[in-house]
Amino acid sequence: MLIGGIEAGGTKMVCAVGDENGVIQDRVSFPTRQPEETFADMVAYYKGKDIKALGIGCFGPVDLDRKSKTYGYITKTPKAGWSNCNIVGAFEEALGVPVGFDTDVNGAVLGEVTWGAAKGLDSAIYITIGTGVGVGVYVNGGLLHGLVHPEGGHILLMKHPKDTYEGKCPFHKTCMEGLAAGPSIEARWGKKAAELADRAEVWELEAYYIAQAITDYILTYSPQKIILWGGVMHQEKLFGMVRKEVQRLLNGYVAHEMITERIDEYIVPPALGEDPGIKGAIKLGLDALG
Ligand code: ADP
Ligand code: ZN
Repeated sequence: MLIGGIEAGGTKMVCAVGDENGVIQDRVSFPTRQPEETFADMVAYYKGKDIKALGIGCFGPVDLDRKSKTYGYITKTPKAGWSNCNIVGAFEEALGVPVGFDTDVNGAVLGEVTWGAAKGLDSAIYITIGTGVGVGVYVNGGLLHGLVHPEGGHILLMKHPKDTYEGKCPFHKTCMEGLAAGPSIEARWGKKAAELADRAEVWELEAYYIAQAITDYILTYSPQKIILWGGVMHQEKLFGMVRKEVQRLLNGYVAHEMITERIDEYIVPPALGEDPGIKGAIKLGLDALG
């Protein structure tokens, strides 16, 4: 059986076809332009591929409330032309198959819970630190939705006393994204993040912020696994630094051995490499079959 999976991003739309085991058989990518022309390319890709369902992990904010009139819409986004866009409706109508829908990061955590580093667990979170920060939350065996959906990338952080950077988030300045996403690192230090690889102070500060956010997620969601990825985590030394800093910040308060002794297995990169998002989208499609 073939299932379609879409990772809908602000710069590109990754479209794939996979099977019920999450094995990807084909994939393409289209640049994100205006909805109509972008969707036309994507629909043409799926036509004739005999997919039984489609899953979409989408950039946000999105409406996930099935009782809402705008369920399946991208809601109010700064991305020109995309506010109030009925993405689920567009594909349901054009392809005539069930469409599963969630945020891109909820899709990614679902991929890792189904086939990756959190396989078989009841709870996990997926944090991506790249151009922005996104956090997908899986708890009690399901993806977390609420009033809208969690926006863990924008939790407010305590600034480091020596950090003079004002913060980049247009809404909150010094939230997680405003202090720790790639563009914030680059604005603070005046260089591309990859070119700062040898500057210890850059990554010490970065680990301080990432660990603060993770500490808060541990205290609120109590995840059994934390998967950490995104362009910034290409600085792989951050993993060890973040683990240590999380232990320091928790200070023994959450006295579980996963934190006190086995933190190397607790805060990890994805097991699905670059594919948690697209595989998770395929799982969203599978789940839409009911
Ligand atoms: P996106 O978030 O747009 O999907 P990425 O997750 O690839 O994309 O993140 C891109 C960001 O990651 C860039 O803004 C850059 O600051 C940062 N980045 C990319 N490569 C590296 C690297 N080798 N080291 C540190 N940061 C990096
Ligand atoms: Zn913010």
